[in-house]
Amino acid sequence: MLSWACKWRNFKRHNFAAEFLGCRHFEKLPKSKRYCRETIGSSILCSQNDPNLLSSLKLNDARIIYSVAAAMGHNQESHPESHLRVPAIVSALDRMELSAKFRGTEIIELDHFKPASVDDVASVHSKNYVAGLQKAMDQASQQGLIYIERTGPTYATASTYQESLVAAGAGLALVDSVVAAAESSHNPPVGFALIRPPGHHAIPKGPMGFCVFGNVAVAARHVQRVHGLKRVFIIDFDVHHGNGTNDAFYDDPDIFFLSTHQDGSYPGTGRVVEVGHGDGEGTTLNLPLPGGSGDIAMRTVFDEVIVPCAQRFKPDIILVSAGYDAHVLDPLASLQFTTGTYYSLAANIKQLAKDLCKGRCVFFLEGGYNLESLSHSVADSFRAFLGETSLAREFDNPAVLYEEPLTKVKQAIDKVKTIHSL
Ligand SMILES: [Zn+2]
Repeated sequence: MLSWACKWRNFKRHNFAAEFLGCRHFEKLPKSKRYCRETIGSSILCSQNDPNLLSSLKLNDARIIYSVAAAMGHNQESHPESHLRVPAIVSALDRMELSAKFRGTEIIELDHFKPASVDDVASVHSKNYVAGLQKAMDQASQQGLIYIERTGPTYATASTYQESLVAAGAGLALVDSVVAAAESSHNPPVGFALIRPPGHHAIPKGPMGFCVFGNVAVAARHVQRVHGLKRVFIIDFDVHHGNGTNDAFYDDPDIFFLSTHQDGSYPGTGRVVEVGHGDGEGTTLNLPLPGGSGDIAMRTVFDEVIVPCAQRFKPDIILVSAGYDAHVLDPLASLQFTTGTYYSLAANIKQLAKDLCKGRCVFFLEGGYNLESLSHSVADSFRAFLGETSLAREFDNPAVLYEEPLTKVKQAIDKVKTIHSL
């Protein structure tokens, strides 16, 4: 049997969009520095010794805490999952004065965090995969770029292994900070990991769909293992099904995975009948939405599916796979979310976390390939967390929208409500 590392192939030129889109039923619609993670109770250790580390007081004053891991070495020319994505968001946040340097105590950047350890990542992925990826770095160093076939083409460069550990670590450090802040504040900051490579397609045995390690899944296990918070509710609003997260927790009754995605989009999984297995039956909810679904659809889904589901589950923390590729301007899919949709989602999820789990909530960047709509939507999510007015009207152009297929949307929602007794 071939070892995992042997499956890596030399890079050859590839039509990524075509492969990512080349799935069942697809139809293009018309018109269109190191951080100390050790915590005891509510205080973060080491903060008195290092001025760069956060005191719990500073944490409690903040409304948003974010971390940045741009993975600048993990890049392939013309690939949509590019190293320009995170810098585009960061520069939009700066331009709109929504970053740490402009907002003092309200918004803080966690810039000292350590990479995830092999054990962290191996809580979700097989050790064989993790070791195989590390080994494959020698091959990538020699050849510049390698990729694995049949994975919705996922590439690797010489720095992919290390940068993927940094991305996962950036998420874990945020979880630690938010959990610590919630011990002493009723209104802890929302965490936002501005990281890549993304994670929700990566399966336990390997990479997939531009994703290397399942950042949100690794964080969910960390929450349980390190903080003793048992029940984790994961909301995945990326336009694609988060199959990796789905698979990691398919039989786990303590981790609820709820994914909305475009029906028929990559990778073709996430049918409404996929509800979990064994003890985990009922704690996976997949809601495929018809192409063209937009703001009305998602607001209805939030009220009629996400809220009752989360209320019934009673989570200790909410983690979010925040993909911005359901935006109407995104090149990889055909939903019609707008900047305003993402503002509402951010505001509503923050409120849900406040109502159900002491405000513990961390967002993880997943997809989003139009740099402008991606960065504007993340910026408006920040405004929602701050309780500031949305600027969606400045960014959204109603002329590019067409009528949502609301009859089909209602059918999809009714079906999932019946299956899950909502
Ligand atoms: Zn996606």
